[in-house]
Amino acid sequence: MTQNENPASLIVIFGATGDLANRKLFPSLYNLFSKGNLSKNFAVVGVARRSLSNDEFKQNIIKSIGTVSNDVDKMNEFASHFYYHSHDVTDSASYTALNEIITDLDDHYGTKGNRIFYLAMAPEFFGTIATHLKEDGLTDVSGFKRLVIEKPFGHDLQSAQELNNQIRTAFAEEEIYRIDHYLGKEMVQNIEVIRFANAIFEPLWNNRYISNIQITSSETLGVEERGRYYENSGALRDMVQNHMLQMVALLAMEPPIRLNTEEIRSEKVKAFRAMRPIKDDEVKQFFVRGQYGPGYVNGELVSGYRQENMVNPESNTETFVAGKLMIDNFRWAGVPFYIRTGKRMKTKSTKIVVQFKDIPMNLYYKTEQTLSPNLLVIHIQPEEGITLHLNAKKAGQGIDAQAVKLSYANKGVDGINTPEAYEKLLYDCMKGDATNFTHWDEVALSWNFVDNISDVWQNTYANFPNYEAGSYGPRESDILLARDGFFWWPVTNLDVESC
Ligand code: NAD
Repeated sequence: MTQNENPASLIVIFGATGDLANRKLFPSLYNLFSKGNLSKNFAVVGVARRSLSNDEFKQNIIKSIGTVSNDVDKMNEFASHFYYHSHDVTDSASYTALNEIITDLDDHYGTKGNRIFYLAMAPEFFGTIATHLKEDGLTDVSGFKRLVIEKPFGHDLQSAQELNNQIRTAFAEEEIYRIDHYLGKEMVQNIEVIRFANAIFEPLWNNRYISNIQITSSETLGVEERGRYYENSGALRDMVQNHMLQMVALLAMEPPIRLNTEEIRSEKVKAFRAMRPIKDDEVKQFFVRGQYGPGYVNGELVSGYRQENMVNPESNTETFVAGKLMIDNFRWAGVPFYIRTGKRMKTKSTKIVVQFKDIPMNLYYKTEQTLSPNLLVIHIQPEEGITLHLNAKKAGQGIDAQAVKLSYANKGVDGINTPEAYEKLLYDCMKGDATNFTHWDEVALSWNFVDNISDVWQNTYANFPNYEAGSYGPRESDILLARDGFFWWPVTNLDVESC
């Protein structure tokens, strides 16, 4: 094994003809392979309902990785490790046949009995598959066994608990890798480095120096073909319960005593536990929901959510959420964390803005020049980087101050594309590093937080639509901050030139 190489492993991908497998998983595995980060002793069995020959499946693989490569020999070599099994997830005979295939491949490729089961399928099958894997003997291995499971992990705390109980009969907690692909993003992983490796930030990272933190994840797309799924989910369950709260936890957690899975997770869990629960009668005060109506996105007229495919024309489902979270501990008492996420917004952007408190006395008011607050902006996507907003003297006569930005752009500096989140997560899973996956305690605490809000919303009919497609969401979202004397920092692009 070379230094970066993963251990030998056999990967079974359930849902291998689906969108996730083709758009993300195969290209990510190929990137690991072409960078020498995958053991030569690997094999992949794709499992799905459709009937396909091994050769047809290999052609699918070549097509999928054609998006990231044009090295035909390498692509063929990679695809030669792939096999296909047409499978009915509810039928024991199917699992017995699958077990025979992977046992043979284990011998052939020397994968040392190490098995990774990746569930890239609709969540209603997760429990059934895990149960069959155990009952039909696929988890009796001589090496390691791991289960990688996609979101959504349940629909609320109760369903998540049921699902967890079911998969725990077949896999121990440390063998379960719950994917939150935001945790694989370069700049989300960078939050800890920015905080814990810089003397200029960590001493200020508290309620004495920070006035508020804003996390925005906006999309310009609507629900596309996912209307049926989205109707039962909505932005709160689809984005807030997982990605948004994970970012809050990373920003709010205490420094871990070591950079290992247990210590980091333990600090994140404490941050989740410190999030102030929202009572029924407080939901209106702390959270805003929205649903897009028709409007213009990038100059093109698009329909409203209620006119989308597979969506109820009187739908009460939210496509936008803004919220104010309070973290009741010594570090954060009194500092609001504002979160905002929505579909069909004006721009596609995920970013974190940390706003520092104003200096005690502003000498520059006298010159009619108002200082801007210091901001640390972490750009997560599509740009990746950091911008620090400072004040400096305006060049020329006088002592006027002006806002300046110090920017660092990942792509601009390194000249390389950072790896796709799934590439990092697959790599970690093969190595047995679960740091960037969500522990059950985090899942349970975040559902617990969100459930109260969704119960209230489900039982009250909203006056939707309340924001135009192509806007920044409903007016109430601005009012949420204005009541505290703040406003959402405008979504500007990372200024690469100023690096
Ligand atoms: P998809 O509908 O495109 O693919 C589903 C796959 O499951 C197909 O391969 C299909 O053949 C297989 N399948 C369905 N029923 C089956 C059965 N009874 N027996 C055997 N195979 C069966 O779905 P997707 O978009 O790839 O999403 C898969 C999972 O990943 C879902 O949990 C989704 O929420 C999650 N996810 C997807 C994305 C994405 O970008 N597509 C992103 C995040 C999470």
